[in-house]
Amino acid sequence: MKVFISIDMEGISGVVSPEQCTPGNAEYERARLLMTQEANAAILGARAAGATEVVVADSHESMRNLLIGELDTWADLIYGSPRPFSMMEGLDDSFDVVFLIGYHARAGTPNAILDHTYSGKVVNHVELNGRPVGEIGLNAALAGFHGVPVGLVTGDQATTAEATALLGPALQTVTVKRAVGNQSAICLHPQEVQSMIRQAAEHVLNAEIQPFKLESPVVLRVQLRSSLMADFACLIPGARRLDGYTVEYAHEDYLTVYKAFRAMVRLAS
Ligand SMILES: [Zn+2]
Repeated sequence: MKVFISIDMEGISGVVSPEQCTPGNAEYERARLLMTQEANAAILGARAAGATEVVVADSHESMRNLLIGELDTWADLIYGSPRPFSMMEGLDDSFDVVFLIGYHARAGTPNAILDHTYSGKVVNHVELNGRPVGEIGLNAALAGFHGVPVGLVTGDQATTAEATALLGPALQTVTVKRAVGNQSAICLHPQEVQSMIRQAAEHVLNAEIQPFKLESPVVLRVQLRSSLMADFACLIPGARRLDGYTVEYAHEDYLTVYKAFRAMVRLAS
């Protein structure tokens, strides 16, 4: 049983502000320790349920946040960027389940800590086959392409609601904080959160879950924040301009769609 963990930072309990998520701030050092502890809780739960291998992909900003010396000795760490498959780098069809830990709601969600989709400066809205998605949907679809289900999502209440609406009621979720705005939340104590994540991770490995699969061709729509950004995003060969802000891209292969999305964000930035 192989487990892949993609871990972000905005959805960790105790994290509510951009400064906590950005190196060079005193509070960032505390936040990365909390992030490492939530990763460890998920690893321990997976171990307890009989996982034979756990790979953790550090998936926030520079993708160099987790404290490798504090990480459970049992897991391998995917560290640094850029990577072809970004937050899901390292995942293939040999894995049995994916955990998305410390995730956040998609751009434009009210009462959600630091809601965004890949780039808050550039991306306003994303759809896959007509369905609004954020990082949960984009990454669950990549797992689904490999035939691997997402079994556990953790973050604030908006994140876990978004995940359940998209991935179905068999999904395990842990709500670690209740947002009362974009940068304020009622946070559960880290020890309580870690215990909940450990239990949920253990439970997932004993459950039957289906992968999130998209029908081909996959149609990606990205609404940028300005028409200039859309001008740049539209440079991707095969991309179509739908209106001032919106670019569409369709392909049979979701791996290609995923890379096109990342290239659009990069160009628009
Ligand atoms: Zn992040």
